[in-house]
Amino acid sequence: MIADNDSSENFLVVLDFDDTIVEGNSEESVKSLLKSRDIDLPLHMLNHYEKHKDWNFYINLLYQLLYDNNILHDDIVQSLNKISFVKGSAQMLETLRDMKIKRNIDVIVISGGNVLVIEKILENAGLRNAIDQILSNPVSVQPNGLVKIGLLNTHTCDHCFSGEMCKGVVIKNYLSRQKSERNIDYDKIFFAGDYLNDICLCLQLREKDFAMARHQYPLEKDLQNRKVKGQLRATLISWKTGYDVIKVLEKQTELI
Ligand SMILES: [Mg+2]
Ligand SMILES: [Zn+2]
Repeated sequence: MIADNDSSENFLVVLDFDDTIVEGNSEESVKSLLKSRDIDLPLHMLNHYEKHKDWNFYINLLYQLLYDNNILHDDIVQSLNKISFVKGSAQMLETLRDMKIKRNIDVIVISGGNVLVIEKILENAGLRNAIDQILSNPVSVQPNGLVKIGLLNTHTCDHCFSGEMCKGVVIKNYLSRQKSERNIDYDKIFFAGDYLNDICLCLQLREKDFAMARHQYPLEKDLQNRKVKGQLRATLISWKTGYDVIKVLEKQTELI
């Protein structure tokens, strides 16, 4: 965490979680608990999601189904051990943890997944302390053990579905909080992500910032097009592994 009133440069690293830190969709990974017990997702769940793209509705039905089948919170937490990290991403978080000692760097995760899953995966890997804040959907566990997923924000963004967060709103709110509560304006912001739900966040970045898109994932192509059209102000960089992200960070924060 950056100390208040420090006069040297301030950096912010923003990381997506699914398909950036871990492979696949961490929130949906709990589905494997159903598969292992030969329980199929009911067709009405899939149809509703296909029709409305209401992720929050879908994921809450999924947790309800787990609950109905007596798969409880502890089983869910246990299942998260099986998730694999993107190549180099654990090392990237370790490097960030080291860099924070020498540089003013805040590291946050902005994810459309949920806080419970992200916290547990990072804790299990001994990496929770590399991240200052996790901005993701809130979770409550009811007294009966049923897990309920809320929404971090509502929005009126045309690009984002109503049952999902708009990461553009999340970063805007975060930056204005840092300004009002800590008087921090970041000199450079770095973002790494992979998917189309990262676009609104990338479009908030300034010329001096860096939008890093995972190579051959949907965000890369979309941002390439937007760069040509002049819609993306930040420098666009492709990454394949966490090591690529580290290289950019080290170079741009002049640590090497
Ligand atoms: Mg992602
Ligand atoms: Zn949006």
